[in-house]
Amino acid sequence: MRQPAQVVAQRQVKQGTGGHSEAVDRVALRLAGIARAQAQAQAGSGPGPRGTCASVSQWDSDTPAWFDPIRDPHGVGWHLDRLLFDAGVRDGAVEAGVALVDSVRQLALSHEGGRWRIDAQCLGQGGAAPSRGMHQTPVLVDASGRGMAAARQLGLARRGRDRLVWLYAHLPVDRDDKDQATRVCADANGWWYSVRVPSGQRVLAFHLDSDDAELKALRDPYRLLAKAQRHGLLAGIRPATMDFPVHLRPAGGGGLDPGATAALPDGFFAIGDAMLAFDPIASQGLFNALATADSCAQAIGRYLDGVGNARARYLEEMRTVEARYCQRLGETYAAVSRYARERFWLRRTAGNAGAL
Ligand SMILES: Cc1cc2nc3c(=O)[nH]c(=O)nc-3n(C[C@H](O)[C@H](O)[C@H](O)COP(=O)(O)OP(=O)(O)OC[C@H]3O[C@@H](n4cnc5c(N)ncnc54)[C@H](O)[C@@H]3O)c2cc1C
Repeated sequence: MRQPAQVVAQRQVKQGTGGHSEAVDRVALRLAGIARAQAQAQAGSGPGPRGTCASVSQWDSDTPAWFDPIRDPHGVGWHLDRLLFDAGVRDGAVEAGVALVDSVRQLALSHEGGRWRIDAQCLGQGGAAPSRGMHQTPVLVDASGRGMAAARQLGLARRGRDRLVWLYAHLPVDRDDKDQATRVCADANGWWYSVRVPSGQRVLAFHLDSDDAELKALRDPYRLLAKAQRHGLLAGIRPATMDFPVHLRPAGGGGLDPGATAALPDGFFAIGDAMLAFDPIASQGLFNALATADSCAQAIGRYLDGVGNARARYLEEMRTVEARYCQRLGETYAAVSRYARERFWLRRTAGNAGAL
């Protein structure tokens, strides 16, 4: 059976194309290095990242399929403390000389005289009145995630009609919960994911469509848990208390159209989720954010050196990543034949698979 949490767009690209493969190697090394550094810094002082332990899934069968990452030729994945990781990346950028403005309330973007102009309205600090600033730059990179704030303002829209949302909860720390495995399980109207994160809490998430009739009811923690516990793989999840909120967030894949992006004035780039957001079954969003940042940095270097097709080459690479991702995504959902007639699965197979 295909391991559902192993839809790996970049790893496939690594085998098949140039360009991005170098970024993949650099990013893989860097990510492992960051995770190890976090682990050392955190040793004995609280939660830190850890190499992924085994994963177990009930995808097309009720028989659990175990996968040990030691058998993965590309190495183990990592469970990161996301807040710590983001703060580390931000600090690293500032140390490298980046000027960080993190009080922006509104941005207005325009392109004039061959340069990008950013008019920013910033929140006043310590009771001061809001301030305005103007910046000019030859290069503008949208790294604003799924919201793609810059691209939207420039008139681009996200491709993809994926209705996928996720309902998730951080269950209270349970000292008796020693399970380290990542658990993935198909259901008639979606799929489950559960794992203990470095904080010690357990994440329980259900991915379903935003127009599912059950969605509203499942925001009740009791109902969410009861539905999860029907599956052998999740039956042992027994939080100490039930006073946790159930959150709802969009989770569908989708991205910018490289063709439309190429039509914008030169010097505009997008990375990470702003360029291409992955369905969470891929478990590749963070890696993709770092890999696209790395590739984009190379492309910007070439662009500033006067290489005429620098952005076109970057966008071509993104097309390749997207094509591989869509193919693997379709295969992963199509592997669930036991629910093949259910709407959730039908929407992701039978010619609809992985299409953006
Ligand atoms: C349900 C779900 C599960 C996931 N599971 C995994 C997983 O297991 N593994 C994995 O690798 N990835 C996973 N991801 C994806 C991963 O979280 C994202 O792919 C990754 O965070 C993308 O990074 P990014 O930097 O592109 O965007 P983000 O992390 O979203 O960062 C965008 C930044 O831009 C800022 N911003 C937004 N708008 C503006 C604005 N107008 N002005 C200024 N700043 C702005 C935001 O505050 C934020 O700091 C999952 C995602 C979802 C939805």
